[in-house]
Amino acid sequence: MDSKEKVLVLGAGVSGLSSGILLLKEGFDVTIWAKDFSTNITSSKASAIIHPSLCSNEKKIIIWGILFSLPIIGNIARFIYPPFIKIYSLLYKKNSSKINTKINKKQEELLSMGEFTYDYIKNNILNNNNSGCIERNVKEIFNRQKKKPAWSNSHWIKTKGNFKRIPKEELPKTYIDGYEINTIVVEPNIYMNYIMNHFKQLGGKIVQKDIQNIDDILESGFQTIVNCTGLGSRTLFNDKTVYPVRGQSITIKKIPGIEDAIVDHDNPVKNLCIITPRINNITLGGVDQAYNYNLEPDEKDTKDIIKKCTEIDPRLKDLEIVDVTVGLRPQRYPIRIEKETIANKTIIHNYGHGESGFTLSWGCAKKVVDLVKNI
Ligand SMILES: Cc1cc2nc3c(=O)[nH]c(=O)nc-3n(C[C@H](O)[C@H](O)[C@H](O)COP(=O)(O)OP(=O)(O)OC[C@H]3O[C@@H](n4cnc5c(N)ncnc54)[C@H](O)[C@@H]3O)c2cc1C
Repeated sequence: MDSKEKVLVLGAGVSGLSSGILLLKEGFDVTIWAKDFSTNITSSKASAIIHPSLCSNEKKIIIWGILFSLPIIGNIARFIYPPFIKIYSLLYKKNSSKINTKINKKQEELLSMGEFTYDYIKNNILNNNNSGCIERNVKEIFNRQKKKPAWSNSHWIKTKGNFKRIPKEELPKTYIDGYEINTIVVEPNIYMNYIMNHFKQLGGKIVQKDIQNIDDILESGFQTIVNCTGLGSRTLFNDKTVYPVRGQSITIKKIPGIEDAIVDHDNPVKNLCIITPRINNITLGGVDQAYNYNLEPDEKDTKDIIKKCTEIDPRLKDLEIVDVTVGLRPQRYPIRIEKETIANKTIIHNYGHGESGFTLSWGCAKKVVDLVKNI
């Protein structure tokens, strides 16, 4: 495709803006249509850690994910999941020095997209004080013995992740195992404005528009359309395999000494815990509630999150809440990044990133550019 050609991008979340920026850099004339912008969308409610564990393609996660996505069976699966994990953990006594599983082809692709994102932010964005990005050690902790994760063997982590096992004495009480890497943490309410401004500086155009149906797009006059509408694709493109997973986060004032991020996502249905120190504050998460469309903060969730995070890091006992936010992760197994032809128009889909939209953002944007160039 001629690089002077016009491309319409649907959506101004992290997926739409990253795709728009890389298309502009390749010389395309890019317009974004979006209903909502930062502050109101999922992308502005994320934690948001760039992490290889979010590029997982492990069979058991996918199987549970698909079960969760089925309307009636999903409720049963979510009910069974916590006791299943508990029993599985009790039985799971394998040698933790071994590698968990080999990296399969799909996971390798996801990890290379994550690595591309890491490199892109590190080389182009991190040094800019207004970007909201900072380097952090991120610790994943478990109350069972874990094998070394497959992603620890990826090019990304072997060359720049600084992977290390956390010594038992450094783990929070009741935790048995854990590992740490060095990576990037993004503060979305700063970062989303930063990439929006960058998109405009490169000559990108933004139109506020609530797209009612696919005809609005097909009659737009654009021949190439990049779909980054996240959960919006459920109605707009009638894709019922993308579904909401509600997340709630509490932003608190900074607490001296809390510098490393800590994640316990071994049992996300019941006990997800993410402590993310950012540049200006700390966020505490979270919940992982499939098919819950409630965008209002829930008081019980707030209490549960604070309780769990304080158990892990008692320095949080005197926390001061600044804000409580809710976002709906656009979950889909697998993410959709592919070309489709509808009524002679080329649609490039880039959505369904669930809990990994920031981690995959620039890598997926690069794939979008490749797909657009090869039309
Ligand atoms: C609590 C929480 C914590 C998270 N933590 C992390 C993390 O640590 N690391 C990580 O990598 N990811 C994380 N995520 C996931 C990440 O935030 C998402 O995967 C990502 O934001 C999805 O971005 P998106 O651009 O695809 O979708 P969105 O941000 O939802 O943007 C969709 C865009 O499409 C537009 N749109 C939709 N429908 C229409 C329509 N009909 N007409 C016009 N416009 C439309 C919307 O207005 C919006 O502009 C987290 C998410 C949550 C909620």
